[in-house]
Amino acid sequence: MDFASRRVVVTGAGKGIGRATALMLARRGAQVVALTRSAADLETLAAETGCEAIVVDLADADATRAAARAALPADLLVNCAGTTELESFLDVSVRNFDLLYAVNTRAPMIVAQEYARDRIAGGRTGAIVNVSSCASFVGIPDHAAYCASKAGLDGLTRVMAKELGPHGIRVNGLHPTVTMTPMAVKAWSDPDKAAGMLARIPLGRFAEPDDIAEVILFLLSDASAMVHGLSMPVDGGYMIA
Ligand code: NDP
Repeated sequence: MDFASRRVVVTGAGKGIGRATALMLARRGAQVVALTRSAADLETLAAETGCEAIVVDLADADATRAAARAALPADLLVNCAGTTELESFLDVSVRNFDLLYAVNTRAPMIVAQEYARDRIAGGRTGAIVNVSSCASFVGIPDHAAYCASKAGLDGLTRVMAKELGPHGIRVNGLHPTVTMTPMAVKAWSDPDKAAGMLARIPLGRFAEPDDIAEVILFLLSDASAMVHGLSMPVDGGYMIA
């Protein structure tokens, strides 16, 4: 897959899956526009890839819209930034519920609105990948707000696919299993908990960021020209059970 002369916005490009995606896109010729929170991550990414860097807190709706506009025009969009807080359902705080919805659900909507408006105004087609999670399909203890925020993102993906498809903008959701990133360390560093999850993955391992990035690039590329509105697990078979 060649992304030469394609300009691609990647949110959450500072760490983990977003960073792996930005690096892979850059290796394949793309001009990456990286949106994330930590300036230090953007500095190292820019040094490695020559990407454009925009520092933004995606929990702030107005700042998110301004950053999305500053990133345009762009050919393709990856909504990858996400966050989690571990709390049992009975303990979920309104503050954390609102934070996870803001970052995991509302921010992808705002960035995609700005991207799609610009594509449509210019009469140009496009592609969006929303990085969801297997957690949107199943109930994972201590992940109530996270599961809800990702299920909300899936709802957006389906409506976006219906409404943006006629404009030639493809929209797909991608659902990773546990992937070895800073987020996974936060959620899955307890060996007993990790073993239970691992036992449900027929391929017998957690994902690496590049496993996920490869599929993101496929969904962005013309190789998937007829793939639209999909909720694609990248999970080593976790969802079979
Ligand atoms: P990481 O925590 O490793 O990286 C997340 C990135 O998003 C970081 O660069 C982070 O920046 C950025 N980000 C988080 N919150 C904000 C914010 N408020 N404003 C701006 N940027 C922000 O996560 P992963 O790479 O693991 O996750 C990437 C996506 O994949 C997420 O949507 C996640 O939900 C999803 N996912 C991950 C799985 C996993 O096991 N890792 C499994 C399933 C889905 P900073 O560090 O500066 O906050």
